[in-house]
Amino acid sequence: MTHNKNKSPKTERRCPECGAPVSWQGNSYRPFCSSRCKQVDLGKWLGEEYSLPVYESPDFPAEDTSSKVIH
Ligand SMILES: [Zn+2]
Repeated sequence: MTHNKNKSPKTERRCPECGAPVSWQGNSYRPFCSSRCKQVDLGKWLGEEYSLPVYESPDFPAEDTSSKVIH
């Protein structure tokens, strides 16, 4: 009884963060290739949830932007 299935058990996975091929066996960071990519992806999720204004300067008040006209 031999059934040839199209599904191969060994599927090549790629890191959703950097696109590098990921070794699935013995990889505790899957589906990522490394701990760094895992952290980056986690940071995206956390950043989306808390929406931290990382790029804005804390010294610059948000109210001042409307009154400021730049030519
Ligand atoms: Zn990666």
